[in-house]
Amino acid sequence: MSVVGIDLGFQSCYVAVARAGGIETIANEYSDRSTPSCIAFGPKNRSIGAAAKSQVISNAKNTVQSFKRFHGRAFSDPFVQAEKTSLAYELVQLPTGSTGIKVMYMDEERNFTIEQMTGMLLTKLKETAENALKKPVVDCVVSVPCFYTDAERRSVMDATQIAGLNCLRLINESTAVALAYGIYKQDLPALEEKPRNVVFVDMGHSAYQVSICAFNKGKLKVLATAFDTTLGGRKFDEMLVEYFCEEFGKKYKLDIKSKIRALLRLYQECEKLKKLMSANASDLPMNIECFMNDIDVSGTMNRSKFLEMCDGLLARVEAPLRSVLEQAKLKKEDIYAVEIVGGTTRIPAVKEKISKFFGKEVSTTLNADEAVARGCALQCAILSPAFKVREFSITDLIPYPISLRWNSPAEEGLSDCEVFPKNHAAPFSKVLTFYRKEPFTLEAYYSSPKELPYPDPAIAHFLVQKVTPQTDGSSSKVKVKVRVNIHGIFSVSSASLVEVHKSDDNEEPMETDQHAKEEEKMQVDQEEQQKTEEQQQVQAENKAESEEMETSQDDSKDKKVDQPPQAKKAKVKTTTVDLPIENQLVWQIGKDMLNLFIENEGKMIMQDKLEKERNDAKNAVEEYVYDMRDKLCSIYEKFVSEDDRNSFTLKLEDTENWLYEDGEDQPKQIYIDKLTELKALGQPIQARFQESEERPKAFEDLGKQIQQYMKTVHAFKAKDEQYDHLDEADVVKVEKSANEAMEWMNNKLNLQNKRSLTLDPVIKAKDIQAKTKELASICNPIVTKPKPKVELPKEEQKPTEPNGPVEGQGDGSSGAQSAEPSAAPAPTATEKKLPEMDID
Ligand code: ATP
Ligand code: MG
Repeated sequence: MSVVGIDLGFQSCYVAVARAGGIETIANEYSDRSTPSCIAFGPKNRSIGAAAKSQVISNAKNTVQSFKRFHGRAFSDPFVQAEKTSLAYELVQLPTGSTGIKVMYMDEERNFTIEQMTGMLLTKLKETAENALKKPVVDCVVSVPCFYTDAERRSVMDATQIAGLNCLRLINESTAVALAYGIYKQDLPALEEKPRNVVFVDMGHSAYQVSICAFNKGKLKVLATAFDTTLGGRKFDEMLVEYFCEEFGKKYKLDIKSKIRALLRLYQECEKLKKLMSANASDLPMNIECFMNDIDVSGTMNRSKFLEMCDGLLARVEAPLRSVLEQAKLKKEDIYAVEIVGGTTRIPAVKEKISKFFGKEVSTTLNADEAVARGCALQCAILSPAFKVREFSITDLIPYPISLRWNSPAEEGLSDCEVFPKNHAAPFSKVLTFYRKEPFTLEAYYSSPKELPYPDPAIAHFLVQKVTPQTDGSSSKVKVKVRVNIHGIFSVSSASLVEVHKSDDNEEPMETDQHAKEEEKMQVDQEEQQKTEEQQQVQAENKAESEEMETSQDDSKDKKVDQPPQAKKAKVKTTTVDLPIENQLVWQIGKDMLNLFIENEGKMIMQDKLEKERNDAKNAVEEYVYDMRDKLCSIYEKFVSEDDRNSFTLKLEDTENWLYEDGEDQPKQIYIDKLTELKALGQPIQARFQESEERPKAFEDLGKQIQQYMKTVHAFKAKDEQYDHLDEADVVKVEKSANEAMEWMNNKLNLQNKRSLTLDPVIKAKDIQAKTKELASICNPIVTKPKPKVELPKEEQKPTEPNGPVEGQGDGSSGAQSAEPSAAPAPTATEKKLPEMDID
């Protein structure tokens, strides 16, 4: 099972994985840990990440970036409309009313949904993780901004499905950062102690998020979040772009905004300049060659001028900081540390603003770029059974109050109720009780639209079906479970009808309660992992608000549950029946559509793979041409006749030209065939070279082997006691074999020395090696025969020097390298001949 965390950033994404050694942010095929959130479409394939980023200008209309914030938004959404004008690619309204992206792909006009775009990006990140882990990746945790609404979250969830991922949790970016901070801290206050409050600030490319978290040993609770959803690095880039558009416009009479390519280039250069200014306070040049109409432009900028221009942006830094403190009801003194992450917090003035507000230095202990992804991977490790991690509980929150609205027969009109107030703990479930005779609809919505960075407060309609009256015609009690799940998404997760079976004429318990419709049984959902004291507190608070005293049963599926009767009404029996719920979610992709997108993604992955293979085949030809041409005039020169070399060089040149002309765009097989054709000429040369490299060593090894056996033979003949246990006939066999091998070797050496290197060798290295092995197989068993043990009187049994042949001669080939016998015999004929062996 995979344990992967993905930070889906507006500008760039990061992937972290959990391995035995810990959490690791992984690099893509460019050895870069950040992958640009960019997808380029071409006539034959898609490029995703760095390969797409390099096409931003050259393939501007079909290179898609900056789409993160279109998730879950209608085309008519004011945010989408405002963004539309500054994009190089085209946005369109899809039949569902949602935002689509129009590009040319495979020579066809195609509209893709935002879910598909993020799905493509996720496909790439998934591949990156798979390459690092060397196994398929399915389970993951993906981050989203903490201010995302349900529609945006559901849209990202759909994207994960399109990429074939199983998202265990959509985690808020700020919460992922808090987890990455807290899980390693050894010195957090104990559970009963006052928690440690830490502020996390993340200013990325598109948005600014602040959260306050309370830490105790083994747990974190998000107390409050605040944000400026449009304050990020790109706003600072825009300031510079505006400035230079005007400056260059005047100085060089250029209408930069009329040419998207020039504008995009200016954006790139301004971002670079902005980063330079973070490290440099001096004047910095802004030069772009051949910027527009073949004109080179130049200007200057410095930090103080830049700060002046960004005054309005910097003024927006404070509000969210103030807001989190107010919401959490904490003072600046209560804050233990302020941790900053996100690329834009590198702007010194942003950092200063934050530290000035809190009256303390900001901490940069976390990796500003990778903290979100690392937090995601940690969360995935916690959720995955495949990994053992330190226990750490996370209580997140609901950023906007959520209410339910319904038609109330009792009050003859609409009623509503805030089911989750702002900053309520999440994930969380509550059970509400309604009295109804027929199916009814619950309309969920964000009840504070003013603070919502999204134009539509509607969340969804939930139709509770199959509601029938009691047998006596009175209203049935319907229990509805509402929840904000682990992804931060609201739903009416289940509903059940409580059938009351009266056994006598006792008063029906709930009929007396006129306000039953509002009764909320705020019960901790057992399905959620949270059993924290905070939740118990909330439960207690909610119970206090509620007048309903009856114990609510957890809604186990199709299980008939006997309700514990209340003291006064002991004779009432109840059973529960699950009710179906029909959801009408805002901007939800239908199942069929989603399946189609999954299928299409699969097709595109396949197409990219085929195209990559085709390109690899082409590159292989090109590489071979360059490699061979180079070697033919260097290391291979001796191994090919002049005629052959000339004709081969010519062929290589022809192939090179072909690659730039007719061969520019051919099917994969053509390149494969071309390479085979070239290799047929190159291979023998290469082989001759290779042989000549290996041959001397092979001969040398054989020679050493022969020498070793001859030494033993001589020692035996000299009656060396080390070998006096050997059988004479065996020693004769060794001598004969060694002499034969010697003869064989000298013969081959002579023949080879007379042969031109441009011809195939008379003997191959592997045949020499085989000869060495053959000799060893005959001689080794004889010369390594152990000396029979001599029984010594007990007191004399001391460790003795090793006797007999030295260990290590067992495998024949390495025998030559083993320790020499102690008495070095006189040089033998073999030794005298050895120098010859180096001639080759
Ligand atoms: P978001 O969080 O909004 O989804 P993101 O995660 O892609 O976006 P980050 O990677 O955190 O964003 O930050 C990217 C931004 O940080 C860019 O605007 C980039 O120009 C800016 N940035 C990076 N380094 C520096 C620097 N040294 N000085 C100023 N800005 C920088
Ligand atoms: Mg980010």
